[in-house]
Amino acid sequence: MNDSQLLRYSRHILLPEIGIEGQQKLLDANVLIIGAGGLGSPAALFLASSGIGTITLCDDDTVDLTNLQRQIAHRTSHIGKAKVLSAQATMFELNPDAKIIALQERATESRLEQLVAVADIVLDCSDNFPTRYSLNRVCMQLQKPLVSGAATRFEGQISVFDFRHADCPCYACLYPEQMESEETRCSMLGVFAPLVGIIGSMQAAETLKLIAGIDTTLAGRVLTINALTMEMRTIKLVRDNQCPVCVSHRTN
Ligand SMILES: [Zn+2]
Repeated sequence: MNDSQLLRYSRHILLPEIGIEGQQKLLDANVLIIGAGGLGSPAALFLASSGIGTITLCDDDTVDLTNLQRQIAHRTSHIGKAKVLSAQATMFELNPDAKIIALQERATESRLEQLVAVADIVLDCSDNFPTRYSLNRVCMQLQKPLVSGAATRFEGQISVFDFRHADCPCYACLYPEQMESEETRCSMLGVFAPLVGIIGSMQAAETLKLIAGIDTTLAGRVLTINALTMEMRTIKLVRDNQCPVCVSHRTN
């Protein structure tokens, strides 16, 4: 680290849990974020400001006026621009050191395999079940930690699936794939703006902890928050031995 980096990251370096060594791990890390909307915005901004070396952002959407109430990586002047390019510009302003790869595409499962293979950690900031299930399968196969977040109306949740551990539960253990899953998009139901900030920031926090080697993450637990009452709960999540995804994608 040069003098400017030592200053930029000094408040992390001061933390004994991170220190110089942990900060260097952040600088060397490669993180994949799927979705540059409500959750992806705060996650991407905090990961960029924290000095993650390489961040790949993947989203096929463009910035719309209705996004700006909560998708804080985007600016009014960015309306009509690709979300990944809009977020990239904001992240670059925060931290010109970060290498940010902007992919304006809706990744198929085979494409996700390519992207996840080169990433150390993956953040699911998507807004649809097909992507969530694909990411879950791919991260399980490639044994990459997955930090999954979701938010609608006033309700949010986050969990870490650390597939480096063989007994780790998966997203489909929590929400079986065959379950009738209603698409719960913000465009239909509404979403409280700071809630996506809370969950997306928590996703960034869990990612930084995983990279720095801090082992008190949400792995094996789901945290839910109701932003109306500000009640938070953590529920222990165990692997479902009947989960067809775990059964078909694991060798153990
Ligand atoms: Zn499972």
